[in-house]
Amino acid sequence: MVDLKAQYEAIRGEIDEAIQAVLESQDFIKGRFVSEFERAFTEMHGARFGLGCSNGTSAISTALQALGIGTGDEVITTPMTFIATVEAICHVGAKPVFVDIDPETYQMDIGKAEAAIGKATRAILPVHLYGNVCEMPALMSVAEAHGLKVVEDCAQAHFARFGGKFVGTFGDAATFSFYPGKNLGAFGDAGFILSRTQEAETLMRKLVDHGRMDKYNHDLIGFNNRMDGLQGAVLSVKLKHIQRWTKQRQSAAAKYGQILGDAGFRTMKVLPGAEAVYHLYPVQVANREEAMAYIREQGIASGIHYPTPLHLQPALAYLGHAPGDFPVSETLSRRVMSLPIFPEISDQQIARITSAFVAKAKQ
Ligand SMILES: *Cc1c(COP(=O)(O)O)cnc(C)c1O
Repeated sequence: MVDLKAQYEAIRGEIDEAIQAVLESQDFIKGRFVSEFERAFTEMHGARFGLGCSNGTSAISTALQALGIGTGDEVITTPMTFIATVEAICHVGAKPVFVDIDPETYQMDIGKAEAAIGKATRAILPVHLYGNVCEMPALMSVAEAHGLKVVEDCAQAHFARFGGKFVGTFGDAATFSFYPGKNLGAFGDAGFILSRTQEAETLMRKLVDHGRMDKYNHDLIGFNNRMDGLQGAVLSVKLKHIQRWTKQRQSAAAKYGQILGDAGFRTMKVLPGAEAVYHLYPVQVANREEAMAYIREQGIASGIHYPTPLHLQPALAYLGHAPGDFPVSETLSRRVMSLPIFPEISDQQIARITSAFVAKAKQ
């Protein structure tokens, strides 16, 4: 699905040097390597405030908490995402309220999000799923009209754009994951939060570091959700390459799109004005298990993102949903499979993958 070893080999010299610098300085928690990365990542986005943290899940709960969302509040999101999005809503004591996705872009259906707004709604949490882009200007107008906060989950969409503007710079806050397999991956767990106000930024800095103002002065109960120096150092190196890697993903996706589109398969629609970054390459297929087994025999990996929409997960049974509640998500979860995509993928690999896929898959 991805070839992390190939990426390391390509930049081994720079990475090893960066890691050595951390070892020499023993600056393991927060510190210089984290602040350098924070500055660079925030500046590249043209954002105001940026904070490194422990992972993409704590990034979401920290952002929600800093925006004042907690017990009794409702947060609108979709059931077609990784469970972390919803766990974070639950961690702050709020209730996830699901709305379905658009059948072509697979992103939150904004009309349905507006229809789901109720008295207790405090925030909307769109996920830029698969590296595609939610229609943020439309979503922001809905949120503004109803006085709601917006937190963008950008865990799969580093440096995707809408109308030339990076995702993560539309909402009140935006969160990122640097899990190793994400488009920008650390050598362990790490996450990030972009935000707009000094107030949110200050609160979030305390929340991720034991509620402190300085070493032994704590003015609130926080968490240990800091970023490690080693991750900051590795991410600073990789950040220099992310734009090239993104272009390579986009060009691989264009090749997939051409071949699979010509063969009549349904691939993900990207809205006009949006630039997807293809964390995954999803395609719909009627005989998924058969197609996956067949390509596996040819030595080709594939994945399912995600086989069970969250409203049907046992962990969320208390929300009281039943099959049929979110039909677009349910249909996609039965039909979608992800083909391998990563910056280093070659034309020959794409040709081999698509010819094996097309030989067996039914539309
Ligand atoms: C990976 C992911 C997360 C969680 O990130 P972690 O760093 O693994 O905690 C959250 N949301 C989405 C959509 C993800 O893909």
